[in-house]
Amino acid sequence: MAMLTATSAPKPARATSFAWARLAPFLAILLSAAVLPFVSNDYWVLIGTRMAIYWVLVSGLNLVVGFAGHLAIGYVALLTLGAYTTSVLVAGNVLPSLPVFAALAIAAIVGAIFGVVVGLPALRLRTFYFAMSTLGFATIVTQIALAWQSVTGGGIGIAGPEFPHPFDTAAGFYALCIGFATFTTWISANVGHSRFGRALIALRDAEVAAESAGISKQTLLIAIFLLAGACAGVAGGLFASLQTYITPDAFTFDLSVLFFIAILIGGRGSILGPLLGAIILTILPEVAAPLAAWSTFLYAVLLLLIVLVMPGGIAALLDIRNRRPLAANRAILPRPAALAEIMQGKPGDKPLRLRGIALSFGNVRAIDGLDLDVAPGQIHGLIGPNGSGKTTTLNVISGYYAAKAGTMALGDAALPPGRPALRATCGIARTFQTPRVIGEASVLENVMIGGTTSGTASFAEAMLSLPRSRHDEHALAAKARALLGVVGLDGLGEVRADRLQHSELRFVEIARALMLDPDMLLLDEPAAGLSNDEIARLAELIRAIAARGTGVLLVEHHADLIFEICDQVTVLNLGRTLAAGTPAEIRVHREVVSAYLGG
Ligand code: ADP
Ligand code: MG
Repeated sequence: MAMLTATSAPKPARATSFAWARLAPFLAILLSAAVLPFVSNDYWVLIGTRMAIYWVLVSGLNLVVGFAGHLAIGYVALLTLGAYTTSVLVAGNVLPSLPVFAALAIAAIVGAIFGVVVGLPALRLRTFYFAMSTLGFATIVTQIALAWQSVTGGGIGIAGPEFPHPFDTAAGFYALCIGFATFTTWISANVGHSRFGRALIALRDAEVAAESAGISKQTLLIAIFLLAGACAGVAGGLFASLQTYITPDAFTFDLSVLFFIAILIGGRGSILGPLLGAIILTILPEVAAPLAAWSTFLYAVLLLLIVLVMPGGIAALLDIRNRRPLAANRAILPRPAALAEIMQGKPGDKPLRLRGIALSFGNVRAIDGLDLDVAPGQIHGLIGPNGSGKTTTLNVISGYYAAKAGTMALGDAALPPGRPALRATCGIARTFQTPRVIGEASVLENVMIGGTTSGTASFAEAMLSLPRSRHDEHALAAKARALLGVVGLDGLGEVRADRLQHSELRFVEIARALMLDPDMLLLDEPAAGLSNDEIARLAELIRAIAARGTGVLLVEHHADLIFEICDQVTVLNLGRTLAAGTPAEIRVHREVVSAYLGG
């Protein structure tokens, strides 16, 4: 207790200075934008306006590409849609003419709807195939704009909307666009730094771990497609006004490439990086005016350079904190005693019960009629030779595989086959044989991902950083920090996870699993790759977790660890139970000794 208070006392001050350090570059950019009209000419104000409009689109797209990792390369389609929607509604050649701000709001709605339409294939198609589907959509939109002459003016085009006073001057319109850009920066940063943003990155880099934390892909992706589409729709309306007159030619594929590359050179999972990327890409053709005709070529060269020289993009370049060396002689020193204070309430008294579970892969019977009971507060060892079905058993319990036969229940609730994302809310948490962490996220963020489902604020509340969302974030961060102390990783919270050692990642995974206050914890070979000292500390930690009432199903190869801490042991061989009993019984079981333990 004394230690916990001592380490947590100075945190608020550090968190505040950290927040300011994160905000400072954005304020500097905003300040530069504010003085631009006073220190330059109309030409640069025009460039600045264009930059702001592009960023309105890119800030939304960044959540799709940079955070969720979906290669949406045809977003110019949504810009086109927003531009025509606003222009047509203001021109009044279909319905009575609307005021421009109302038209812009409708463009946002149209953009959001089509954002989902374009995005939906991402739920099924990965990478390249999804990229092609977004491109296809871009072609369709341009063709419709060309063909639907009565509304869009076809190849002749249509006048862009005019904004009322005071936005009808170059400086006024610039200020309006900067205002929109500031707003979408704020919104996208709120989402990016909320549990929803972390969940997106988790789905991108460690989908299996994300599912085990209860993150549901569909709803989350639809929410960001709506948001990104709305941003693109608004950007379209502003773009049409900037152009004063739009034809389908104004929306070239180059533009789509620019949006996409701004994010790539900016760096994944960052807001500042892509913002700088968008600024650089808008200015680049201007300062290299003789090369304007070569802009696509320039983008390509820039992209190649980035991929080769700094794969993490501008964001990685700016991430100075993660270039400081880590202490080489650091040790993992868990403090299991602190566990009781952190985890609210005791886990419910729910035993895990498997009856007659069977699963085959082709001709391989991975599990063949398995019965297993794990009592609350007990440590149940699951051992057996390689390929005997231990990991498969965990995968069936956590819903990755649907058993062909048999039933499973935790307490009174039957566990539906498949549906891994439902397990977290049932009270089941797990770790993986090969740690599944998000290398590019910090250790603290990785742990916070485990508690995604415990947040109470909606996506909309997170978007606007309303009190409930801020409360969620504080609670998640505080709990994750405390759990990092419990598993012995104090001081590594802000470090990028891919810089940790393998053994440390095993403890990160345990901390992430504990974020759920689980009734049942499934551990897949947590001692693999650990030193003897670390195994002894792990044993203490697992004991402390079980002592709180959590049932632990422990898959392990270290027989010593199993016999030391388990209450019950099940031995698998070829997917069947070879023996089950107390460690004392198993240790002397004749078949087990000859088949597995060696003797
Ligand atoms: P272990 O006890 O070493 O964890 P596993 O549960 O990983 O064993 O594997 C049990 C058996 O099922 C092995 O024969 C393995 O090859 C097979 N198996 C596991 N997962 C798959 C899969 N996704 N596809 C095909 N075969 C699999
Ligand atoms: Mg295994």
